[in-house]
Amino acid sequence: MIAAAGRFAPSPTGELHLGNLRTALVAWLSARSQGLGFVVRMEDLDLITSSPVHESSQLSALAAMGLDWDGDVVRQSERFARYEDAIAVLTARGHTYPCYCTRREIREASSAPQGALAADGTYPGTCRHLDDALRSRYAAEGRRPALRLFADDAVVEVVDEIHGLVRVVVDDVVLRRNDGVPAYNLAVVVDDAAQDVAEVVRGDDLLSSTPRHVLLQGLLGLPTPRYRHVSLVLGADGVRLAKRHGAVTPGQLAEMGIGTAQMLGLLASSLGLAEPGEVVTAHGLIERFRLDVLPREPWVLPPNLQRSVS
Ligand code: GLU
Repeated sequence: MIAAAGRFAPSPTGELHLGNLRTALVAWLSARSQGLGFVVRMEDLDLITSSPVHESSQLSALAAMGLDWDGDVVRQSERFARYEDAIAVLTARGHTYPCYCTRREIREASSAPQGALAADGTYPGTCRHLDDALRSRYAAEGRRPALRLFADDAVVEVVDEIHGLVRVVVDDVVLRRNDGVPAYNLAVVVDDAAQDVAEVVRGDDLLSSTPRHVLLQGLLGLPTPRYRHVSLVLGADGVRLAKRHGAVTPGQLAEMGIGTAQMLGLLASSLGLAEPGEVVTAHGLIERFRLDVLPREPWVLPPNLQRSVS
């Protein structure tokens, strides 16, 4: 195992874009500036949307930026048995239950007045206390259950090192989907512990999921890493960056004559780690890295890159 590490854990479902690469850069700089290892994990649980082609393009993009990693790349698709072991532990301790709800039923239950617990699309707890008769009926109807965490309305606090305190009631998150695939929220907890991850640096879209992870760590007897959630990159429309916003992948930028070095400079200056237009290398940024200069606000794709490539 790599000594206590930072990590980057992309889903190999497409090319990495400026948003992902910016997060990867912070994760790598943060780890390396503290002398930590750095591991890469492919979050390819969803075998339909993940592909080895995307995996290799993502690894090449990281390497081209000078972001190196220690040890072999880990693939979640090869670790289902580990996730099932964790599910067995939670189940033995009474922390799981089968959920037969369809998406539509969850939506409807969440908008009903008694679904007050279900803020923000979280699960309203419909199947928490199903009696055996109803469970058998659903099974007889051929409904395949997902498995949920019985979170018992736990209130969890996390202190993110960029955003500060987050305090929420954890919902009964899915641990195993009804097609048998383990869920991200479980796998991430199992893997961060297995890879001895000391700090998790990732996009701040996942900040609200972090209390779920911390609760699961506690229930599974696993350590809680430090959390540093990096602000996202947005398109001109204020929506999280996607290819349609313009020149956002290394390939698209290259078509505009913007090479890797220039892209790195752009990302570094968006993070407050370089002057605009400055030429930098990833290694050269290690000694400049400072957590307190990182912006909490999202970075909007610069106008010259917006929608300039279709
Ligand atoms: N696989 C997730 C993504 O690509 C990141 C998960 C994480 O860093 O915990 O958005």
